[in-house]
Amino acid sequence: MTITTFGLGPLQTNCYLLENDGKAVVVDPGGDPSEVLAHLKAHDLELTHILNTHIHFDHTYGNKALSEATGAPILCHQDDLVLLENWLGRGGDMGLPPVDEYQVQTIEPGSANFAGMECTVFLTPGHSPGSLTYYFPEAGAAFVGDLIFYRSIGRTDFPGGDLEVLTRSVREHIFTLPPETRLLSGHGPETTAGDEMNHNPYFQGY
Ligand SMILES: [Zn+2]
Repeated sequence: MTITTFGLGPLQTNCYLLENDGKAVVVDPGGDPSEVLAHLKAHDLELTHILNTHIHFDHTYGNKALSEATGAPILCHQDDLVLLENWLGRGGDMGLPPVDEYQVQTIEPGSANFAGMECTVFLTPGHSPGSLTYYFPEAGAAFVGDLIFYRSIGRTDFPGGDLEVLTRSVREHIFTLPPETRLLSGHGPETTAGDEMNHNPYFQGY
């Protein structure tokens, strides 16, 4: 299992490609997916799913193009669909382009299998109402979107955000993972569950 990171879109959002035995999933294609498509082709990979951690514009710019080019379905949680009704999901604000419209399939938290890999999907709201974490135990990695970052946490001042809910999501679903689990966030460098539990300033002292 190999994980490749691409910085895509106007905010250089982290897009991840996780490959296993000729198949792959992509997490949050936040911009023109040309580089991702080139990688799939060069490594002769079949893209089985596009996994959205949440439906903010900077994580979804490449959804349509990547899905159309590969036929892979786009998955998200239904509680984030409300975001498609405003600029958070549709883009087109702050001088940034609109998001090309795309079709999604909603998934429920629980056990799943993507590209031949076991995955546990956690509902981890707080940054958005339907934020998902995709945890792949065999890869020892969790794709957390904008829930938690290296020494920081996601913004909770957007509609649907809630700091108390976010910290509960982290404590329940991230800090309970094996401490060496890689946390792959939507922005910034990677970290681990244990490292953030011990050093993230938002979780110290209480
Ligand atoms: Zn976000």
